[in-house]
Parts: sequence; structure tokens; C-alpha cells
Amino acid sequence: MRLSHEERSLPDPVCGMDLSRKASVEELEYKGRVYYFCADVCCRAFKEQPEKYVQQHRQHGIRSE
Ligand SMILES: [Zn+2]
Repeated sequence: MRLSHEERSLPDPVCGMDLSRKASVEELEYKGRVYYFCADVCCRAFKEQPEKYVQQHRQHGIRSE
């Protein structure tokens, strides 16, 4: 339920590239969130080990600075 601040560019969780929604080639929903990928290979890597990439995102420090 917290989509408001996530409209801007989103990093590809696999390679870290900044993506706008238009730039994304692949998208995948995982646990209620949608992730965008720069390429099919990144999307596949995420599907294989989603936990690995999602956890990186969960660290503290994402708050506003
Ligand atoms: Zn990528």
C-alpha cells in the first residue's frame, strides 16, 4: 500500500541500473511488488534467486536523507 514514492526511476534489482518504467524491458511481480529489469537476463537471474536481490533492497538507509 505504499506506492506513492516509488513512481520515479527504479533500480534494476539485479544489476543496479536505474530504470524508468519506460526503459524497462521486463517486469515481474514478486510478493506484491513489481520489479523492473533492463534485460531478459536480469529478469531471469531474479527469478532464480529472488530473495538474494530483494534483501539488498531491504536494508535500512532507504529513508529520506
Ligand atoms: Zn539489469
